Amino acid sequence: MTKPDIRDFTRQELAGAITALGEKGTKADRVFNCLHKKGVATFEAMSGVRPELVKKLQDKYSLAAFPKVEKLVSKLDGTIKLLLTFPDGARAESVILFNKNTVSACISSQVGCACGCTFCATGALGLKRDLKPAEIIAQFVACRREAGKPIDSVVFMGMGEPFLNWAKVKKAIMILSDNKGHNFPQSSITVSTVGVVPVIRELADSHMGVRLAVSLITADEAQRAELAPMSRKYDLRQVIGAARYYGDRTKKSVFFEYIFFDGLNDSPEYAQKLLALIKDLNCKVNLIMYNPGPAAAPYTPGRIEKAKEFQKILVEAGIRTHLRREKGSDIAAACGQLAAGA
Ligand code: SF4
Repeated sequence: MTKPDIRDFTRQELAGAITALGEKGTKADRVFNCLHKKGVATFEAMSGVRPELVKKLQDKYSLAAFPKVEKLVSKLDGTIKLLLTFPDGARAESVILFNKNTVSACISSQVGCACGCTFCATGALGLKRDLKPAEIIAQFVACRREAGKPIDSVVFMGMGEPFLNWAKVKKAIMILSDNKGHNFPQSSITVSTVGVVPVIRELADSHMGVRLAVSLITADEAQRAELAPMSRKYDLRQVIGAARYYGDRTKKSVFFEYIFFDGLNDSPEYAQKLLALIKDLNCKVNLIMYNPGPAAAPYTPGRIEKAKEFQKILVEAGIRTHLRREKGSDIAAACGQLAAGA
């Protein structure tokens, strides 16, 4: 039987596991610190932990080997894409984005994705498997190392739908933000969903400090059903309702992502449709150009003049917006392009 990986445990779970081994649960702090702050690769490397406890942990638990990391750097803007290969051969990608004064790590939550968005290279892969907490944290660690400077924000916008692997993503966030480990603030973490309504509501009712981004993609129901088949399960009315609930419960603004496809959803009429959905919400809209991926999708990126016209309509209605310049497109690191080398 495979032994559970001890890096997947929150500090609280670790305390429970150590107590079950007949030791004091307070020793979890030291073990957790060795695993996540010092980043030890083996049980033997845990300094300051009694050898008897190390032996007991080793008998019952495992420590997976760190993933192999390959790196690509964009010649256009310095964006870095990391391809991580885990011990079982599963592969996931992470992206390091250098903004004017900050650095963001875009992290994957799954290997592939079950949502099947027709414009997305990850969606074309289908779902291979969920990523475990330790594998999500390994991406953060690799991004921090390769960035060469501190990471200011983490966004779950890489491969996968985080809310379809929420238990493990949530655990990874608890571990990342633990002050005995990486101590990375939850308020600097954004989780992006294509609209898994029950989990948006669950997040709203939790005490987690992470930010919510909802990938609306477009403002037309039928078009959205074509672009993001999962939206047939949760329609726009339900998604906007859940986003409103999140805003009311947490008093935080919601980020919406809208993707421009040339001639499809970039007209002033669509800006009005979007406004009708969100005008009374505390929100900010990220406007993104479609990025052609390796999958042969029948779409063309939106045009900047039309995007600006669209943006103006939102701004005049009092909506905060950001027209995003995509980064790393020459290394297939932009939104919708991640395919883990497939
Ligand atoms: S856009 Fe996001 S939710 Fe849709 S297939 Fe791609 S990774 Fe999955």
